[in-house]
Amino acid sequence: MIRLDDVTLTFPDGDARVTAVDHVSLTARPGTVTAVTGPSGSGKSSLLAVAATLIRPDSGTVTVGEVDTTALDAREAAELRRTSIGIVFQQSNLLPSLTAGEQLRVMGELGGRRAPGARAATLRRADELLDAVGLSAQRDRRPHQLSGGQRQRVNIARALMNDPAVLLVDEPTSALDQERGAEIIELLLRLSAERDAATLLVTHDVVHLPRMHRVVRLVDGRLVDGRPDDPVRDAVDLPHAHARHGI
Ligand code: ADP
Ligand code: MG
Repeated sequence: MIRLDDVTLTFPDGDARVTAVDHVSLTARPGTVTAVTGPSGSGKSSLLAVAATLIRPDSGTVTVGEVDTTALDAREAAELRRTSIGIVFQQSNLLPSLTAGEQLRVMGELGGRRAPGARAATLRRADELLDAVGLSAQRDRRPHQLSGGQRQRVNIARALMNDPAVLLVDEPTSALDQERGAEIIELLLRLSAERDAATLLVTHDVVHLPRMHRVVRLVDGRLVDGRPDDPVRDAVDLPHAHARHGI
């Protein structure tokens, strides 16, 4: 789980400062997807960067599991990101020279101790995740041999390689057509549930919102909809559950 408590983030702006995130509190629980919506410039990417421990907030805390990340030094934060946080950026940042399988395998080879059998376990996990995102047949393809939707699937699989407790995803459908975008959203909902990840998903595509466990909205850095402590609704209360059962 990830919890943001009263987080504020400002950036320098000439002689003044611009407030990108303004006293935001938000909790995401394991196995759920929380959509973060809001107009361009409202602070969505800044909020994710703070949640990802990539930027330290001016004030407030970010807790991942039991760890207060704002108390970590840079090395500790990097280690927490490696072990506990999966990040999918808006632009696919795959390495052009690596195949889909290799993009995943390098994640298993970054940092950490090398236990006996670790390499074989990494290989197995990469194959298993490529299968989970429907790309087994594309394992040996490089990014330029994949479609935009397939590249985004590799990004998602890669973010899950180290079995993160928290998955942070920034506008994954912005470069995709409606159908491909909907498939990516379905995939994120399924994988978050299957792997018990607490997922924050930035999207301004409202067609996907009814599928989410929770939706919050940012305006000028402030959370305007959805109370931070809203209980996560039971699955049977989700609109799509009703739709699926024809109710
Ligand atoms: P969104 O993702 O919702 O479009 P952002 O988080 O990118 O919004 O931006 C929120 C605000 O913070 C905007 O006013 C933007 O100009 C500002 N901002 C974002 N990143 C930086 C930065 N690195 N330096 C200065 N200002 C920034
Ligand atoms: Mg953004």
